[in-house]
Amino acid sequence: MGRIVQKFGGTSVGSVERIQNAAKRIINEVNNGNEVVVVVSAMGKTTDELVRLAGEISKNPSKREMDMLLTTGEQVTIALLTMALHQEGYKALSLTGWQAGIQTENNHSNARILDIDSERINGLLKDGNIVVVAGFQGLIPETNDIATLGRGGSDTTAVALAAVLKADRCDIYTDVTGVYTTDPRAVKTARKIPSISYDEMLEMANLGAGVLHPRAVEFAKNYSIVLEVRSSMSDERGTLVEEEATMEQNLMVRGLAFEGNITKITVTNMPNEINALSDLFTILASNGINVDIIIQNVMNQEKTNISFSIDSSILSDTQEVLAENQDKLGFESISYEGNLAKVSIVGSGMISNPGVAAMMFKALSDQDVMIKMVSTSEIKVSTVVKQEDMIKSIETLHDTFELDARVPVQK
Ligand code: ASP
Ligand code: MG
Repeated sequence: MGRIVQKFGGTSVGSVERIQNAAKRIINEVNNGNEVVVVVSAMGKTTDELVRLAGEISKNPSKREMDMLLTTGEQVTIALLTMALHQEGYKALSLTGWQAGIQTENNHSNARILDIDSERINGLLKDGNIVVVAGFQGLIPETNDIATLGRGGSDTTAVALAAVLKADRCDIYTDVTGVYTTDPRAVKTARKIPSISYDEMLEMANLGAGVLHPRAVEFAKNYSIVLEVRSSMSDERGTLVEEEATMEQNLMVRGLAFEGNITKITVTNMPNEINALSDLFTILASNGINVDIIIQNVMNQEKTNISFSIDSSILSDTQEVLAENQDKLGFESISYEGNLAKVSIVGSGMISNPGVAAMMFKALSDQDVMIKMVSTSEIKVSTVVKQEDMIKSIETLHDTFELDARVPVQK
């Protein structure tokens, strides 16, 4: 007998029929002799709708009350799904995050899970129940208040439960059939990746491939939980997220990620002092400004220019913070360039294959794509390009790295 955690995302429980369809998948696993814990998201676009409602009442609603509001979405789903299981004659019981023993840090709207007391779930499983848990929520022990785990956080609930319950599998049911080489809506030749490593998936998720919550991938890596991302609408095998991608080992590039809405800011003629970078980025960080790629250009012995990229939505906040601190930092002026996008290649085979970045730059320059910024890690290269060049860049790179042809790299 195995123990399985199944997670169903919003689309997979978006209507009564879909909830009944999810119930069938759960029952299948139970009939195969498994103990099953289910984690669900709010139905369809419920969470977005609740966010919108709050926005009509207040521009800046209390985070505590936002958590109170948003957690209702998942509660609707756990009750309805459990009723659907009862209807089919199965023993099942729903639990909110706090009833399931999920404790979080004291950080409304984006809390991390600190601990899970799994006693109640274990008891229920022993008594032959299917346990249906609300994703994305937990309790802050010191205040006894409800917290959410950040948008998309139900994935993290599922993986965390799989870890404490020592589950044999964690299946993530979603509205796509797996993780793709790149977004299939943008590139027609994108194909499903059979297997991807935790590190590659983490890069892809952090780079804006929305299929998995990055923290869920981190959790899975830390506890060696194999995830399968698959569709709730078909029986097709999905994508395995695991330690070493088992097929197609060490592809130089396994996938491409991209996101628009990026602005590059340049702070010019800052005094070229030893603490220039630390002063600037400490001020930005303490004002909650999240920066991504950073480039420093030392102009001469006295002066330096520093550029960094941000999400365009925080441009005015960033400008304000910089203006307020201009005297303190001693720079001359600020310039910025909007309508940019980040295009990235990800693959663990890069570690042992020199020249991957060069191939990328060549492919882009052959298409007259101007690269504005670059950043790398061991297994990714990100470039910032004009937003209007984004899709062209992705298509070119998809071809260059033969992502639709499944060509393994010679070692
Ligand atoms: N319902 C929440 C959201 O839409 C959590 C989740 O679905 O993972 O962000
Ligand atoms: Mg999700």
